[in-house]
Amino acid sequence: MENRIETKCLHAGWTPKNGEPRQVPIYQSTTFKYDSSDDMGKLFDLEASGYFYSRLQNPTNDYVAAKLTALEGGYAGMLTSSGQAANFFAVFNICESGDHFIASSSIYGGTYNLFGVTMKKMGIECTFVDQDASYEELKAQFRPNTKCIFGETITNPTCSIIDFEKFSKLAHEMGVPFIVDNTFATPVNCRPIEHGADIVTHSTTKYIDGHASGIGGAIIDSGNFDWMKYADKFPGLTTPDESYHGLTYATKFGKAAYITKATAQLMRDFGAIQAPQNAYYLQLGLESLHVRMQRHCSNAQKLAEFLENDDRIAWVNYPGLKSSKYYDLAQKYLPNGTCGVMCFGLKGGRNVSVKFMDNLKLISIVTHVADAKSCVLHPASHTHRQLTDEQLLEAGVAPDLIRFSVGLENVDDLIDDIKQALDNI
Ligand SMILES: *Cc1c(COP(=O)(O)O)cnc(C)c1O
Repeated sequence: MENRIETKCLHAGWTPKNGEPRQVPIYQSTTFKYDSSDDMGKLFDLEASGYFYSRLQNPTNDYVAAKLTALEGGYAGMLTSSGQAANFFAVFNICESGDHFIASSSIYGGTYNLFGVTMKKMGIECTFVDQDASYEELKAQFRPNTKCIFGETITNPTCSIIDFEKFSKLAHEMGVPFIVDNTFATPVNCRPIEHGADIVTHSTTKYIDGHASGIGGAIIDSGNFDWMKYADKFPGLTTPDESYHGLTYATKFGKAAYITKATAQLMRDFGAIQAPQNAYYLQLGLESLHVRMQRHCSNAQKLAEFLENDDRIAWVNYPGLKSSKYYDLAQKYLPNGTCGVMCFGLKGGRNVSVKFMDNLKLISIVTHVADAKSCVLHPASHTHRQLTDEQLLEAGVAPDLIRFSVGLENVDDLIDDIKQALDNI
């Protein structure tokens, strides 16, 4: 019988045998010892599975990745050194120079830059689309060399919800995988694979770690995409890899092909692996994720309602509010709650928003979201500082927009802090 999500948060991945440690051991070792040269040789040929060098794989990471894979309902998974590395690997594993892919324009700024600027220099072109565009409008963006379509379950920072049904149907009609960054929702509130996504990525730096202690990322593959059916499109998976004596990932590894290739090629060559110590912190975070997400969501719901009812607030964007454009999609795909992040603006615009933030005492100004302590950020003065007001609007970031990440504090203390900050403007 399969355990429910809360139980998986605690028990999936590492299952100690008689007399073994209760908690996942940290394999603080760069390398691993073998009895014969032949034993080790088989690992280098991918003929046997095992560990030889922690730039590619480490047992601590794999136990933690196995837990996250179980939570997402995936087939295989891996940890990366950051969310940026996860999204880069997820796309680069199936795209090469001359290829094209499609991404929602509402995604996290760091990913937007990676896809639009840095990957462009590698000869890979990304078309950014309005994720609320119609099926036909989105379909018109596909080209013969399009290799995947990418979106976020809940976008950072604008809190839009992706229409999974529309995106997965489109991806599969066009014969490409649908990749979803599930960072803000976490597998506790949404499991994209259940809604047709093929590959899921995470910045574990956010809710999964949950305590602002370690940067990390993850990729989880459903194993559902049939690479061989579109063999011409994905030669990296369906034709021999000369760097491994001509083995073909899709035929040799089946449902594990995508993650095996990302580990054997990309981790080998780029080395963006997570330190086992950080994987251990991540594992601690996963154990309480289901409890924390509930509190993040209930606190955020109360605060969103409080802000919406205060005359001094111009607008609030939180998908748990009935007034939200994304309320129905949130109810459909995230019925237990979305996340603790919302955006709002103050009447009077940019300068009033900044004054308000400076008045906050408990809620701090930090470049982070989605951890245990409440925080705010003003993209127009911080992350998007170099943009003019017109450019900000183009990026979907209003000049008065405050990104508010609601933590686990007593919600009345948070409301008190907001009240005093508003009163003192
Ligand atoms: C933060 C974030 C990233 C990047 O993750 P890092 O761990 O900071 O590299 C990617 N996607 C989303 C949705 C994020 O919020």
